[in-house]
Amino acid sequence: MLSFLCPICGEKLKKNDFSYKCRNGHSFDISRKGYVNLLTTNGRNPQKAGDNKEMIRARSYFLDSGAYLPLAEMTGRLLGELCPKEGADIIDAGCGEGYYTCVYAKMLRGADIYGIDISKHGIDHAASRARNCEPKLSNVHLAVGSAFRLPFKSGVADAVVSTFAPVSNDEYSRVLRRGGKLVIVSPAPKHLFSLKALLYDKPYENEPNIYALGKFEHTDTKFLEYTAHIADSKTLKALFAMTPYYYKTSAKAASRLDSVNGLDIECAFEIRIYTAL
Ligand SMILES: [Zn+2]
Repeated sequence: MLSFLCPICGEKLKKNDFSYKCRNGHSFDISRKGYVNLLTTNGRNPQKAGDNKEMIRARSYFLDSGAYLPLAEMTGRLLGELCPKEGADIIDAGCGEGYYTCVYAKMLRGADIYGIDISKHGIDHAASRARNCEPKLSNVHLAVGSAFRLPFKSGVADAVVSTFAPVSNDEYSRVLRRGGKLVIVSPAPKHLFSLKALLYDKPYENEPNIYALGKFEHTDTKFLEYTAHIADSKTLKALFAMTPYYYKTSAKAASRLDSVNGLDIECAFEIRIYTAL
């Protein structure tokens, strides 16, 4: 199991009942829900870092519909194949509200899953989610922190998984052991095309994702495509709120969603697997 590092001095943090402490006396409270905030302020307001409450709530509402469960399960299976050893340490970088984190933890009982996100609202939600899982999850470890400055020692992790989150060549290669795996989940060109067709007069496909990952070897790419039925406009609007189109769409176009009762959406994902050099 990995130790979190002190964000101030970089020493190992020791877990007590109510806090994490380093040997230099820096102390970080464990929240009532069981996570720790390791985000140092550096002049910014940590309350405002990352996704806000509404975004987290919308995403969680949508994900609870189960529309992306096939993706979570496929990624979980892949992680299990890539990290077969007992006690594997898997970092879910940019884990958001923890939906995927908890699916991985349920599927991979022998592994430890570390969910890190810069959004306190996200981690708070993830902690509730983990606590409400039945049977109990004891292998989820959550901290508020930056995916670009992960609170772990170098060369310790067996895998880093990043789902619709920013990707860091330097930081992910730093925390992974040599031969460790980086799994990047991103939307494929056709993803959500019918939603865009509803919103735009001229819908377009997503641009292919390009990653500059010089410290990794690209070992494999998997694709997952299926159709999910969104049954009601509330779920559809929650989906809309978590996409980049939300910010690019006029109110008039967005109001077209009001009259939609159900919609079949194309789910198209790309799962890329890289090996740390
Ligand atoms: Zn310290």
